[in-house]
Amino acid sequence: MTTHSEQVVLTEAVELSVHGDVAVLQISNPPVNGIGHEVRRGVADGIARSQAEGVRAIVIIGEGRAFCGGADISQFNTPAASAQPSLRKIVESIAASEVPVIAAIHGFALGGGLELALGCHYRIMERDATIGLPEVNLGLVPGGGATQRLPRLIGLEGALDIIQSGRRVSSRNALELGAVDELFSGPALEAGLVFARSLHIGQHPRVADLPNPSTHGVDFELQRAGVRKNSRNEKAQLAVIEAVEASTAAQFEAGLDFERSIFDNLVDSTESLALRHLFAAERAALKVPGIDSDIAARSCETIAIIGAGTMGSGIAMACANNGIEVTLIDVSEQGLARGRSMIEENYSVSMSRGKITQGEVTQRLKRITFSSTLMDAKDVDMVIEAVFEDMKLKQQIFAELDAVCKPGAVLASNTSRLDINEIARATERPGDVVGLHFFSPANVMRLLEVARGEQTSPAVLKTALAMAKQIGKTPVVVGVCEGFVGNRMLTPYWREAWFLLEEGAQPAEVDAAMEGFGMAMGPLATADLAGLDINWATRKRLAPTRRKDLRYPLVADRICEAGRFGRKSGAGYYRYEPGNRLRFDDDSAAEVIAETSRELAIERRDITGEEIVDRCVLALVNEGAKILDDGIAARASDIDVVYVNGYGFPASLGGPMYYAEQVGLAKILEKIEHLHQLHGEHWQPANLLTRLVAQGKTTFGS
Ligand code: NAD
Repeated sequence: MTTHSEQVVLTEAVELSVHGDVAVLQISNPPVNGIGHEVRRGVADGIARSQAEGVRAIVIIGEGRAFCGGADISQFNTPAASAQPSLRKIVESIAASEVPVIAAIHGFALGGGLELALGCHYRIMERDATIGLPEVNLGLVPGGGATQRLPRLIGLEGALDIIQSGRRVSSRNALELGAVDELFSGPALEAGLVFARSLHIGQHPRVADLPNPSTHGVDFELQRAGVRKNSRNEKAQLAVIEAVEASTAAQFEAGLDFERSIFDNLVDSTESLALRHLFAAERAALKVPGIDSDIAARSCETIAIIGAGTMGSGIAMACANNGIEVTLIDVSEQGLARGRSMIEENYSVSMSRGKITQGEVTQRLKRITFSSTLMDAKDVDMVIEAVFEDMKLKQQIFAELDAVCKPGAVLASNTSRLDINEIARATERPGDVVGLHFFSPANVMRLLEVARGEQTSPAVLKTALAMAKQIGKTPVVVGVCEGFVGNRMLTPYWREAWFLLEEGAQPAEVDAAMEGFGMAMGPLATADLAGLDINWATRKRLAPTRRKDLRYPLVADRICEAGRFGRKSGAGYYRYEPGNRLRFDDDSAAEVIAETSRELAIERRDITGEEIVDRCVLALVNEGAKILDDGIAARASDIDVVYVNGYGFPASLGGPMYYAEQVGLAKILEKIEHLHQLHGEHWQPANLLTRLVAQGKTTFGS
């Protein structure tokens, strides 16, 4: 037996060292020690060699920032993923080891990383570490035994919760649930060695030997009924329940086979492929063309928000919830009071639902200072303007900010549609100006469009991206144009919804068809929620530049002229009642719509759900292709991230551009050309689409 520490490189990704009578296997596969083929080979070899060395225990640790981030998803659906030894084999060889194996988890153990740890006889966990099984977020079930081991180890309820939610579990929670044996502080290697030496010779627990979990108090039918229809990973959640249910009756090995068969089915499913596309797309969106990785973000510890309305208050909460000190400024006392009560009300609802504690509410409120003077923005690192959507007002505020703010402060506007360059020109420091288009409610919605002006400096963009990360947002950098990416695409999407009304559809038919397609909410219900007057104002603003020879959606104006501004006014395309969130069909709206058809001399006809979906979705795709060609989005997948995270496009279809690729670009073009013939120039196919199809391309490229 070796008595001093010496290192043997087993594979590129795993190193064995022996410390006295304990062997240590270190996984080193940056960035997160993903379980690629080299890791699997190395661990298998290390377990065998260590036993041959005659050690009393084996400790597995990860190098760098974490124990192990799980399977290497880039290898999914490739030969490397199925190359032997499989994760299942390795976990089995760990469990079969004659000497106890201890996983010493620091950072995080996720997915396959946790499954590896579940094969060990003991798991110890650093106090700041987290564990989790996020496979369900990618439309999958765990494929390395977790659905069979975790229920045996911690019981059905805890296992279902962890696997079905894909949530991160804190060390304290993991210890309470019995998922780990002990917590530690300090380096994992030391803690692992101490734990290993404390073990007595003799039998050590194997999760696989534990009895099937008790079904007491768990109703699987109820669990299935609780999965929300059309949730982004509905199929995978149902599959998780099925796999975990198998752990209650099946022999351990049979349970593993069953889990694997479910995994194999899902890994090729439309839902999982789409979710994995989005996972990669969100990461790709962080890489901004033309911005070197060595450009540093500026410090952003304090933020001032101008305008305490719907958006300003929401943004203030998003910041305060994530540890940032904010000053919320509004010129009107009334506006300030409204903002304060919106925030307090929101926190009190969250508290009554058990989402946050009184202590957290106090802490968050303490981070928000209310003020009625712009002078209070003078020392902050970033200002986010969220006043009324009015160019003159915004320019005036930016000129004042230019005079007041410290050098280097980032000056951002939350405008939905206005020109960031024009706003920047009101200052002497256009390089510091950027668009930060949050979505409503800003404390909930993940998407953040970061609008890059002509002169926005790389460091400012980097700062915006870093701030987005700090407050848990999913940022996408976009160029400046009317409506950026998301709202620009909304224009033709709504246009088609309105035309369909004029041609014969009812609001409920349009929305039902689109919700059937998977949209979180149909276009007309969405318009009612956003407030029809806002879009009306935009149409009026753009009227001077609108082409008068093209068909115009008159019905949208006529509805507003009838005093119907959507949900906030109790009526829009639907009728609303106070105190509930339902929408009701409304004869008065139907009358306005029918009258508009008469005015336009359009003979109303029956419209199929298929036509509704085609016209609305293809309008998105065609505009998306134009946006890409104009360089407003850097890649097609950026558009997908915007539409899924900000506009309720079904994640299980991967976003409008990915969806178009799956249908086939040639087929999409054919349909658009057909609509062009029928409905005229609004349907001019995007040049990019025509070019790609002519070149025989099947994707938008990356
Ligand atoms: P809002 O009307 O709810 O709030 C605007 C606030 O700005 C008011 O409280 C008002 O008192 C304050 N204000 C006006 N002039 C001011 C000044 N000179 N100094 C300080 N405060 C001033 O508006 P909102 O819906 O929060 O929208 C704000 C901005 O965010 C707009 O540019 C809008 O286009 C954009 N936006 C809105 C949404 C949305 O869904 N509401 C979504 C994304 C972006």
